[in-house]
Amino acid sequence: MVKVSVNKETCIACGVCWALVPDVFELDPNTGKTRIRTPYVTNDNDKVSEGNIPSELVDAVKNAANSCPTGSIIVE
Ligand code: SF4
Repeated sequence: MVKVSVNKETCIACGVCWALVPDVFELDPNTGKTRIRTPYVTNDNDKVSEGNIPSELVDAVKNAANSCPTGSIIVE
């Protein structure tokens, strides 16, 4: 498992990560920003969304992180 986090304070809701990895990223209707989807999410609040992703999704999530225009996705 690899930890991923989304900084909702810098996310501009462009939708790139939702399009690239819809299994992991989605719109949070409460904040209008990105959140990590169930079952991967481990912590979600107004400022950050964190989760653990399985190895088979790591490459896709890293690609999304590299494609995020604001650098809001961090993969550890
Ligand atoms: Fe937000 Fe980055 Fe995803 Fe765009 S790609 S919705 S800025 S986290």
